[in-house]
Amino acid sequence: MSKTAQYVLPLEEMLSLAAELKRLDKMDKIGAADELHLSSDWLQILVNQVSDHIYVKDRNFRVVKANLSVLKDIGYEEIAELLGKTDLDLHGEEIGSYFLAVDQEVARTKKPKIDVEEFMILPNGRRKWFFSSKFPVLDEANEFVGLVGISRDITARKKAEMLQEGQNKILQDIATGRPLSEVLDTLVQTIDEQLDGVMGSVMLVDNDGTSLTSAAGPNLPEGFLQLADGIPIGPKVGSCGTAVYRRESVFVDNIKEDELWEMFRETMAAFPMQSCWSVPFFGKDEMVLGTFGIYSNEIRSPTDYEKRVAMEAARLASIAVEREIAESKIRYLANHDVLTGLPNRHEFKNRLEDKVVSSQDSGEPLAVVFVDLDNFKFVNDSFGHAVGDRVLQLVAERILSLHDPAQDVIRFGGDEFVLIVWGEAAKRKNLEAFMGKLMEEITKTIQIGDYSFHVTCSIGAARYPQDAGNAAQLLRNADCAMFEAKSEGRNGFKIYDHTAPDKSVNRLTLLENMRQGLEKEEFFLEYQPQYDLLSGRIVGAEALVRWQHPETGRLMPREFIALAEESGLIVPLGRWVLHEACRQNKAWQEAGLPPITVGVNVSARQFRDARLTADIAHALESSGLQARYLELEVTESLLIENAEQAIELMVELRKIGVNLAMDDFGIGYSSLAALKKFPLTRLKIDQSFVEGLDTVASDQSIARAIISLGRDLGLNVVAEGVETAKQHAFLTTCQCETVQGFHFGRPMAAPKLEKLLGMTRTPLG
Ligand code: C2E
Ligand code: CA
Ligand code: CA
Repeated sequence: MSKTAQYVLPLEEMLSLAAELKRLDKMDKIGAADELHLSSDWLQILVNQVSDHIYVKDRNFRVVKANLSVLKDIGYEEIAELLGKTDLDLHGEEIGSYFLAVDQEVARTKKPKIDVEEFMILPNGRRKWFFSSKFPVLDEANEFVGLVGISRDITARKKAEMLQEGQNKILQDIATGRPLSEVLDTLVQTIDEQLDGVMGSVMLVDNDGTSLTSAAGPNLPEGFLQLADGIPIGPKVGSCGTAVYRRESVFVDNIKEDELWEMFRETMAAFPMQSCWSVPFFGKDEMVLGTFGIYSNEIRSPTDYEKRVAMEAARLASIAVEREIAESKIRYLANHDVLTGLPNRHEFKNRLEDKVVSSQDSGEPLAVVFVDLDNFKFVNDSFGHAVGDRVLQLVAERILSLHDPAQDVIRFGGDEFVLIVWGEAAKRKNLEAFMGKLMEEITKTIQIGDYSFHVTCSIGAARYPQDAGNAAQLLRNADCAMFEAKSEGRNGFKIYDHTAPDKSVNRLTLLENMRQGLEKEEFFLEYQPQYDLLSGRIVGAEALVRWQHPETGRLMPREFIALAEESGLIVPLGRWVLHEACRQNKAWQEAGLPPITVGVNVSARQFRDARLTADIAHALESSGLQARYLELEVTESLLIENAEQAIELMVELRKIGVNLAMDDFGIGYSSLAALKKFPLTRLKIDQSFVEGLDTVASDQSIARAIISLGRDLGLNVVAEGVETAKQHAFLTTCQCETVQGFHFGRPMAAPKLEKLLGMTRTPLG
């Protein structure tokens, strides 16, 4: 049996119905209820039991019969009120004309219309959806005389579908990153459509977790959201403030009487809402994120269905808000440095550009201050990253402690900080004073756990418009000034000098030049002789690298080694130095000169390079130099950092037969006792002690102690930086074995050392 067939009236009944419709038509007595009852009492009783709408209309589409369901939904008391009315009368123009069109089609085609979806707004404002089927009633002559209709209420299913669609749409919006406010508006709108006669809202917990902000409520009366904005979270703050406070749903059925709403009673007098049900929602970490509130103009509790929908709405709101939190975290991370919480360089660019524009307009002085820690790498390498991180945080705190709110502080990268300074503070005199203070503050002793040390820094500044024409140049020139300060011996500050020849090549350029210079063989070595104090003979030479820069001229290590270390370029550069030093030393030996040891400086960064041993072996092999004529100068930093691994590597190197010297000994952080663990052959007393030997008693005793310690450990001791005869004399009395310094010979080109080596007598005479 087909669906259609099911609804077609049996011929006999149809004809009898047709006859009756005609009779009523003739009598023009539609509306006379008794007539209907007379003719078909039994049928009326039956159809009144059915929950579907069942009705009969005449040829003019006026209702002539209807069951109780129609009556109830339309909101009439008596069937008489309904009879004789058309859909236009009952539902108004908009919806009524739609029904009429369907009816007219049935009249015209004389064919039934099955399962047409219909929508109506009932007089009480509720919306309903129906599946309607309409059958024509035809007389013997096959003329249309009326129709029979049956409409099934599909509102529940329709709403479920709409809710599902709404959810999908909201989830899509969330996934595609639509702004939170729009997503929440759509959410509330969806719920408002779903539930009859209520208005939803979303309130969010603010950042410090003490109050609520209005986030959405598109259908609430004007002004209400603003009034609700900022209400506290507490045990008696309406439905929403209380729901968040209690972390559970709060259903208030009578706002004007419930004690939870006491503090809002006066305010609420101006609004029609009578009840408010609030369902809080939570984040993954169980924190309350906000609450979904539903208001109704009736005094009532929510139905079970309304509760369910509110829960679902709260769930969706929590997804939307969580997503927003995650995104704003990402946005924050993209613009801020996690370690220090300072804005990062992406953010910086915008800020500086803004500032340049506003300085351009107002004429307000502007400056950029570039701070770079000098020995941060050492700290990081020596004490590990955890301590390094802490140092950066401390430095950030110290900078901020001096910072006036009218300045921006940015972590620009690794150990670089940049400040944007404007107004009075950016004037030359003030700027200099500020940089001095900054330096003083940053270099104060740092105490972390058992470690106590200090970091130094180099600071540069450039001003707008004096030193630069735009933001990028301003930054570059501040960087240059900083680099100048660093080149002049670190721990200093400088304002960009635009009159000086542009020696201060930008560091990136310098790095690039260095790469090319390495290829073009612009680097060369000088050798500084080391003398045996007793015999007066040259026993060794330290290889020191120099760079013949095509434009700037000769550059000394302090001008480029730090950058090479930072960038890792020290690895290939160091490899070249190693090969060249071995080659040169072997060449001297082949020339018949007395064999000496050549000292090569190896930075901690190289020591971490896995290929170091292989590089050394290769340098020895390709030059043919015996390992005992090569000495590697290392600093304490690499011993403190991964001591175990460093010792392993040192043992390996000693096995090859290479000598190991501890460079700059005495200024580092390792205890003298720890030295025993390291397979060293030599200690080089740092220049700073030698410098004070003439005058400073403590330096004398330290030098004496180091020399005797070295002797106890069976190590050769070299005093570096010996500049005066007095220093020489003191070292002799302490029985220091080896000396190196300007007093005996400056670093020199290979041919010059070759000459010295050839002489039998030495300057020691
Ligand atoms: P360093 O290892 O302490 O080298 C000794 C430095 O002291 C050299 O400076 C040398 O010229 C200087 N010097 C020697 N005698 C005296 C003196 O009597 N008085 C004074 N005031 N200074 C003296 P230089 O050549 O400028 O090298 C500086 C630093 O650069 C070196 O310090 C070393 O740490 C680094 N360096 C040099 N060449 C290389 C290299 O090939 N690789 C690595 N990794 N570092 C290198
Ligand atoms: Ca050295
Ligand atoms: Ca040294």
